[in-house]
Amino acid sequence: MKDYSVVLTNVTKIFDNEFTAVDNVSLKIEQGEFFSLLGPSGCGKTTILRMIAGFEDPTSGSIMLNGKNIIGTPPNEREVNTVFQNYALFPHLNVFENIAFSLRLRKEKEEEIRQKVMNMIDLTRLNGHVEKMPSQLSGGQKQRVAIARALVGKPTVLLLDEPLAALDAKLRQHMLVELDTIHDEVGITFIYVTHDQSEAMSISDHVAVMNEGEIIQYGTPFEVYESPVNAFVANFIGETNFFTGTVEKVEEEYFMLDTGRFGKIWFYKDMEVKIGQVIQVSLRPEKVKVTKEKPITPQGIKINILEGTVDETIYLGSQTKYTIAVGNHYLQAFKQHVRYLLDEVIITWKDRVYVWWFADDSYVLREP
Ligand code: ATP
Repeated sequence: MKDYSVVLTNVTKIFDNEFTAVDNVSLKIEQGEFFSLLGPSGCGKTTILRMIAGFEDPTSGSIMLNGKNIIGTPPNEREVNTVFQNYALFPHLNVFENIAFSLRLRKEKEEEIRQKVMNMIDLTRLNGHVEKMPSQLSGGQKQRVAIARALVGKPTVLLLDEPLAALDAKLRQHMLVELDTIHDEVGITFIYVTHDQSEAMSISDHVAVMNEGEIIQYGTPFEVYESPVNAFVANFIGETNFFTGTVEKVEEEYFMLDTGRFGKIWFYKDMEVKIGQVIQVSLRPEKVKVTKEKPITPQGIKINILEGTVDETIYLGSQTKYTIAVGNHYLQAFKQHVRYLLDEVIITWKDRVYVWWFADDSYVLREP
């Protein structure tokens, strides 16, 4: 059986007797994993974190930490620590003393404090900054001090509330890699809150996608990207093309949908479907190909081919994002460049093109 670090069962939080910020959430977070709560602003992520930390009590439901019910346990008695977005460093203390703060409160011996703080300084690569005051540090360095300070007391769970939101894009990427390394080294459970899907996807073992207080989908980054349960998840985790229509034919592996907008299209039957059923399908733009030549249909493989006109191109260096008009409707297609100028046929605005994809590359959405 798996060891769980944090288990939420039917947790609800209602503010002021009227606003449900967290709605009947159940979650099992494994020991030592990097877990992310991902969702748009206001969906209840921080409220869940604050209930695990003990800054808020749930209105109903239970929260277990390492097998013990922690409802009613004060925050400082939970084996949990939090890293906040705004760092929350003490401005009048230097780096060493910021990290040492909780150990001094616990009246630990000077020698032990030094040893533990210096271990954290090594872990977060702050050597050379020990004597500096917070005002003398860069954003990334401040965030590292906040992480070191949260880890020095050896919590079993580290909560991270949008810890990289105040950093610029490049530094965020860099700090993500560092966080991953720190997580591997300390081996404790990290619970990370973000509204940035690429952050959550790149670093997490599991993610829970939230909307309006509820968990919409739980899974590995691969599962939520490749098999989104509904249009909200498909849209929130990357970009997608949607097809809605009525099932017209069913074969062993594929079914044909009358989509109206794009005509009759074959999709992979990754669940049982019936003739006459109304279905929505997601097709990621990177699965859609754009060519000037009509593709040759290989024997035994189902592909869909539509004709269209290039309506928009966005060149992004490593890839180009195309919007293709098929009649009055639009499809997104992303093309990765291998050798852009040397061996690729350049496709530009207003070109007549074929848009095509393998029927296997779509995914039927399970929920409305
Ligand atoms: P963000 O990404 O913007 O931080 P979030 O997903 O973390 O959003 P929460 O901070 O958990 O969202 O807030 C969820 C909802 O609960 C919001 O609508 C918020 O206004 C409301 N809320 C949070 N704390 C309180 C409070 N103390 N009193 C009343 N409403 C609150």
